[in-house]
Amino acid sequence: MTQSLAKNIKPIHEHGANVLYQHGTLALLVPGLLEGTTTIGELLKHGDTGIGTGEGLDGELIILDGVAYKVGQSGVAERVPDDFTMPFANSHRAAFQYQCEREDIGLEELNKKIVEANGRANTFFSVVVRGTFSFIKTRAVIKQQAPYPTLVEVADRQAVFLRHDVKGTMLGYFSPVMFHGAAVAGFHEHFLSDDHTFGGHVLDAVLQRGKIYSQVFDTLVQHLPVDDPGYRNHDFSQDPIAEAISSAEGDIRPHNE
Ligand SMILES: [Zn+2]
Repeated sequence: MTQSLAKNIKPIHEHGANVLYQHGTLALLVPGLLEGTTTIGELLKHGDTGIGTGEGLDGELIILDGVAYKVGQSGVAERVPDDFTMPFANSHRAAFQYQCEREDIGLEELNKKIVEANGRANTFFSVVVRGTFSFIKTRAVIKQQAPYPTLVEVADRQAVFLRHDVKGTMLGYFSPVMFHGAAVAGFHEHFLSDDHTFGGHVLDAVLQRGKIYSQVFDTLVQHLPVDDPGYRNHDFSQDPIAEAISSAEGDIRPHNE
């Protein structure tokens, strides 16, 4: 295994590469506030790389090199236009630094090693894993219609896909445990195959061989849909935010749980 220099990876301040932009929070999906309140076009003003979900949980989004793809219930990735709307998304300006190469490693162990190598469990960072996956399991939520269900109700309305020997890119964000609610504590990772025919929200994987890149942020810009009537008027005090996010999004446990 390549010796990692990852602990030397620091936030890069040039071109705003130290900033993670987030529109909405995972907490607002819990009671079913699934209206699209930002667009891909707006998100791309804040970065060229990101993940998110569409209005009504319409697909799992991945943005690489300024191009946005959506994986819906067919499992096939398709490009989405700039006016495509989303209730929740992250983006940032890519300035990834090489961390190391890994082979024959399962997702849980891989994620644990990434955090260890970074030495930074208490800040946000992004990770890219580029290589061949001997196994990958993804999901895409089936698009919901208003009036929207809660996040827990949506849990059994998703398509799950299994693939073997796929070349592609896994893009993820790591959020510190104290931000559970605004995001899911630990990793949130999406996948896009190199041939752009397959992807989704990653549930499990085995990396056959691949390169790991990381980008550490020291700043979170949290944008909220302040003019959305549903958001303005909702009382979050009765919502089981932490539990619902753990059960719906927390398939990949933070390493310290
Ligand atoms: Zn996702």
